[in-house]
Amino acid sequence: MLFEAGKDLGGTWYWNRYPGARVDSSAAVYQFSDDRLLDDFDFDELFPDDNQMRAYFDHVDKLYGLRADIEFESPVLGADWDEERRMWTVLSKGGIPTEARYVVFATGSSYKPYTPAIAGLKDFAGLTLHTAEWPEEGIDLAGKRVGVIGTGASGLQVIQELGNEATVASLTVFQRTPCLALPMRQKKFTDDDKAALKERLPEHMAMRYHSFGGMEFDFLDKGSFDVSDEERLATYERLWQEGGLRFWIATYNDILFDSRASLRAYEFWREKTRKRIKPELWELLAPTIPPHPFGVKRPSLEQNYFEVFNKGFVRLIDVKATPIDRVVPEGLRTADGVVHELDVLVMATGFDANTGALNEIDIRGVDSTALGDKWASGVDAYLGIASAGFPNALFSYGPQSPAAFCNGPTSAELQGDAIADLLDYLRANGKSRIESTTPADNAWTDEIAQMLSVSLFDQADSWYLGANIPGKKRQLLNFPGGVPAYLERLKTLKDKGYEGFEIS
Ligand code: NAP
Repeated sequence: MLFEAGKDLGGTWYWNRYPGARVDSSAAVYQFSDDRLLDDFDFDELFPDDNQMRAYFDHVDKLYGLRADIEFESPVLGADWDEERRMWTVLSKGGIPTEARYVVFATGSSYKPYTPAIAGLKDFAGLTLHTAEWPEEGIDLAGKRVGVIGTGASGLQVIQELGNEATVASLTVFQRTPCLALPMRQKKFTDDDKAALKERLPEHMAMRYHSFGGMEFDFLDKGSFDVSDEERLATYERLWQEGGLRFWIATYNDILFDSRASLRAYEFWREKTRKRIKPELWELLAPTIPPHPFGVKRPSLEQNYFEVFNKGFVRLIDVKATPIDRVVPEGLRTADGVVHELDVLVMATGFDANTGALNEIDIRGVDSTALGDKWASGVDAYLGIASAGFPNALFSYGPQSPAAFCNGPTSAELQGDAIADLLDYLRANGKSRIESTTPADNAWTDEIAQMLSVSLFDQADSWYLGANIPGKKRQLLNFPGGVPAYLERLKTLKDKGYEGFEIS
């Protein structure tokens, strides 16, 4: 039995329907490895939009027939462990309690939208909406004065889309931190491109498991200063032209660890970007001093994001220098007393990522301990798959897995395989209970913390660290060692008979 909160398939692509929503891993890897799926399906673009992603998942269902087992519009409210019977009871909204020996929580990374507690939000006379809660039927923004708070990946995409259309009367962007976006190099596929994508599928699928980020490319095997300045610049230029996330994770392998390497990349990015915007916006959009080391907040992909700000109907408000004071009926007031008049306020303010969706569920393990309480002082999930005190509960694409440093389909496949193997092992050995041990959980958490300490990630208040949510424990919430290292750990786990778990 599968429980799904949405009315249909798609997960994050079901919810995120804002104008411009689009994937930032290319179609080469953002799909499943079963080549039958491409027999009668074509991606139209290198970076498909949300409509095409929903069509793809619908197509996947045609092959696997999952719908028959899915309860849609059934968010899970609670799950209780019964030690004596070794059973979970899962309660979904409006449903009858369902018993299961094992529960896999595949609740996603970006499910719970985050809206900052800005004073007066309820007073706004216009329409307020979060990018992740865009209505299915869309919204007519023609002639409207639209404001957008947030310039992460979601903000960038909605700003770019609305800035393209001359339909909105005005677009006001409230930016706290500039987005160090990279050129997407979008491509509409020709018939030849579609055929080539199919032909190369096995190669790309294999590459996902050999690259840090589950991509069709990987870091170079040298550091930024192992080469001459000329060679480094030539490499930057090549990666820039090739596009996508390559300038981030197909570059020199020290970019996320060495502040000098990060700065060199930033300087290249800044000079490229400044050429596209009017000089009076340079310090806001591509400042002299980087807002944080390049790459430690996930870079977004853009097509003509920076040009949007050169347009007359677009205004950029620096809410770091002049913070948002409150929302008033007419719009948004900043600390200088200026009221920015709006009809629509878009909150592109992100998610309570990684743990938000799990914390929405009242998960009670041994002795009725709540997972949310256990994790309030810090997440500990052995291999990102299980946590002590919660037997037979398994996480997929969850905290402390590679999730956000990888991509959805890749992560789902590699962890899905690991969970299937584990369940096979239990069945084959006549076992019915598995629980990670506290030392194993702690060792995994320490390993991630150790990796964080030698990287530059701690130098930004990102959602990778839970730092975008007030009061959330600051902790790197995904395994940053890369897909190959993670797969190696899963292999060792299996080879050694699931060391770190108590099985009975
Ligand atoms: P996000 O990266 O967390 O960005 C949220 C934005 O809201 C940031 O610019 C943040 O500013 C701003 N913000 C938050 N609170 C604010 C406040 N009180 N006042 C002013 N600004 C505020 O969220 P996101 O853009 O939804 O992206 C999250 C992740 O989802 C991405 O990194 C990506 O992994 C995924 N995503 C992917 C795609 C894609 O595939 N193309 C598209 C969308 C999202 P600060 O930076 O200063 O905190």
